[in-house]
Parts: sequence; structure tokens; C-alpha cells
Amino acid sequence: MPSKYFPCPCSSKTLYHKCCKAFHDGQLPTKAVDLMKSRYSAYALNLPEYIISTTHKDNPNCKADHEEWKADLQNFSSTTQFDSLQIEEFVDGEETATVMFKASLRQAGQDASFREKSTFVKQDERWLYRSGEILKDVGGGNANSWRTDDAWHSPCNT
Ligand SMILES: [Zn+2]
Repeated sequence: MPSKYFPCPCSSKTLYHKCCKAFHDGQLPTKAVDLMKSRYSAYALNLPEYIISTTHKDNPNCKADHEEWKADLQNFSSTTQFDSLQIEEFVDGEETATVMFKASLRQAGQDASFREKSTFVKQDERWLYRSGEILKDVGGGNANSWRTDDAWHSPCNT
């Protein structure tokens, strides 16, 4: 990491060390939307352990083999450019919450952006990413890449 004084990748317009870093260092987000943002930042900053530790074990992306999963995540992070995150809707709740967002991504110069409605569940005071539903591909000409190749969406049990 070049310096701690860089803008947080979650598009908060705040410096990383005053934004998602606290969550990456172990602080628990009180709102699911903050977990969502900190997961996006973790993808952008190649922090696979954070993605793994905040994914619910019943999530279809969850892999029993953590080393393999970690390698997939690292591969995804290092081959993807994370341009911005836009939160479109956040519905808070006691035990479940949903976040609708647009992630602007590029892979090999191609637009790989997508919109997703994510569901989060609270377990033992921790928000976890439970599942995601793709709303509409907003990328041009690369419509299937995120479904088949990305660590973000690839199912583990196929
Ligand atoms: Zn942030």
C-alpha cells in the first residue's frame, strides 16, 4: 500500500485510514451498509481474509477450502480495477438488511460493472454477507464475465 493517506476505495470521499480501515482492523460495522462498503474496499485493496471472514457460511460463494478461496479472491482483486461504489438503497433491520448497489469495475480494459441487491444477516452481533442477486448487468459486451469468472459471484459447489 503506497500510503495510508489515500481515498477510501468505497467512494466515501474520506481517507482510507478514517474510513474502512477500522473495519479491516477488526472493528465491527454497526450497519450492514458499512459492511458492504468495507467489503468493496477489501476487494479493491486485495484483503481476501476480510472477505472470507465477513461471508456467511451458507453463502453460495463460500468455499470450504479457504486457501483455494483466498487464491480466487486474490486473483479477482489483482485483475480487476475498482472504479467506484454507489449505494442505491439501504434497508436496515434488526437481523437482516439489504443493500442495493452499483459496483463499477473494469477487467482487462473491459467494463465489468454490475448492480446487485445484497442480503446481510446479523449473527452474534456481526453483520455477514448472506447472498446477492444480480439486478442488471450495466457493463457493455462483457455480460457474462462476472457470473462465470469472478470470485465475487462464482458458485463454489458446481
Ligand atoms: Zn471506506
